[in-house]
Amino acid sequence: MTTQLTGHLLIGHQEVAGAAHAYRGFDPSTGRELEPTFSAATPEDVGRAAVLARDAFDAYRATSAGQRADFLESIAAGVESLGEPLIARAMAESGLPRARLEGERGRTAGQLRLFARMLRDGLWQQVTIDSAQPERQPVPRPDLRQRQIALGPVAVFGASNFPLAFSVAGGDTASALAAGCPVIVKAHPSHPGTSEMVARVIQQTVVEHGLPEGTFSMVGGPSNEVGALLVSHPAVQAVGFTGSRAGGLALCRLARERAQPIPVYAEMSSINPIFLLPAALSARAEAIAAGYVESLLLGVGQFCTNPGLVVGVAGPGWDRFVAAVSALLPQRAAGTMLNAGIHAAYGENIARLALASSVQVVATGKPANAPHAAVAWVHQATASDFMAQAALHDEVFGPSGLLVSCQDTAELRAVAERLEGQLTATLQMDDEDLAVARQLLPTLERKAGRILANSFPTGVEVSYAMVHGGPFPASSDSRSTSVGARAIERFLRPVCYQGLPAALLPESLHPRAAPGAWRLVDGAWRCGPA
Ligand code: NAP
Repeated sequence: MTTQLTGHLLIGHQEVAGAAHAYRGFDPSTGRELEPTFSAATPEDVGRAAVLARDAFDAYRATSAGQRADFLESIAAGVESLGEPLIARAMAESGLPRARLEGERGRTAGQLRLFARMLRDGLWQQVTIDSAQPERQPVPRPDLRQRQIALGPVAVFGASNFPLAFSVAGGDTASALAAGCPVIVKAHPSHPGTSEMVARVIQQTVVEHGLPEGTFSMVGGPSNEVGALLVSHPAVQAVGFTGSRAGGLALCRLARERAQPIPVYAEMSSINPIFLLPAALSARAEAIAAGYVESLLLGVGQFCTNPGLVVGVAGPGWDRFVAAVSALLPQRAAGTMLNAGIHAAYGENIARLALASSVQVVATGKPANAPHAAVAWVHQATASDFMAQAALHDEVFGPSGLLVSCQDTAELRAVAERLEGQLTATLQMDDEDLAVARQLLPTLERKAGRILANSFPTGVEVSYAMVHGGPFPASSDSRSTSVGARAIERFLRPVCYQGLPAALLPESLHPRAAPGAWRLVDGAWRCGPA
């Protein structure tokens, strides 16, 4: 597999020199532009990718689950085989360190393999059969058989903060391809070279596996136009997105205004509150502070699960926690942010906090001495000020935290109640905190997609039970997850077959099911024929 970059768009089997204005990758750690020049997609390029995807849909979704599993596993192996050039390019385009990107490459391949395993075990189809009851009175019951089918071509927006695991071959692409949906990736302009290398792997794997041409395409460009055209194209049937609240909402609006509205699965904004319950704070304030600072600074704070808010009850334990944070933060170096825009937005948000009279500085990290480096900031406010000012609830993307002190646990619950939807909510608690935690839990369930105890929210396991999503603005549809096996459900829909002759039924619904196939038959899970 070549790692030579051309800057071309990859549309179906073709390599296309887009005719729209050109752009380049950018190394945030040096402030220099990178070779080569990437051409942006024209409306015709986007249209061609979308039409190819529509034309590929029936043939691609008709592939067996085993064929798609083989396809995903080949993509995983192909991404791994890109080796050092992929890591070097991703480091240059993102400012992220080698170890992080090597780990992210492992996660990317692991996600693809998880969906391959899932396809082979068959449960993803949720095959459900209600047998005919011809003798039933007063009316007979027909034979009803349900399975999930693919939704149609999916537009995937690569995320800036995961150039591998949530980009071209990331979780959205893997789950959509697993479901049987062709994918058109809108490459993130922050890592065009990384995107091209990975897209070439997918393009070549499509050819090697004899899949329809429109199974995969990648278009790009540095303006909103390319993404907007894609979401508005009638062939596209769903959207996966990770990024800003403004961007996600813009795509939701476009999708809603289409002649045929479509679902947008946008993961947007979360401040991931950590609640320090009194006994835990009293027993281990310093240890919690150390864990918090690590989590806050991980990846220069550029994780959607970054703990932007800590809430606790004022008192000696809280004072020890704040003192420990104040001692730890000044020892921590500034880190390079992903791109110039994200760095500028971070600076503006910190300046906005500095102007808020109700907020005081707790500590800052070491000063920045490199381009696009972000200094860590931790501020504090009282619960009443926090609850009164909606602006303090906004995500600050980067290594910035807000500590909110409450008068008592009733006020702590009131703060929880006032929060917007979140990806995560964390409890630091001991056994003596159980009663408070029990009171808080129903609120946290309403607010968050994942509730943690005695750990920190950064670090998202890719597994069957994971939920990475939550009520708005954490995501645009709280009924789904964008990480883990159940992410496939976003790109499937149920179809019921009533009274169809066996000769016409899809294989998974056939009375003679393959051995090992799990099906819900007349309300009971069974394995095999029904
Ligand atoms: P972004 O600005 O939302 O962009 C993400 C993708 O969406 C890009 O491909 C962008 O492409 C496209 N896009 C954005 N607005 C659009 C619009 N109105 N119409 C069509 N396409 C649109 O996110 P970002 O560049 O990754 O970072 C900017 C900010 O997003 C950060 O400062 C941070 O606040 C937030 N962010 C949050 C998370 C999270 O996990 N919560 C992750 C990353 C970023 P074009 O620019 O080419 O149109």
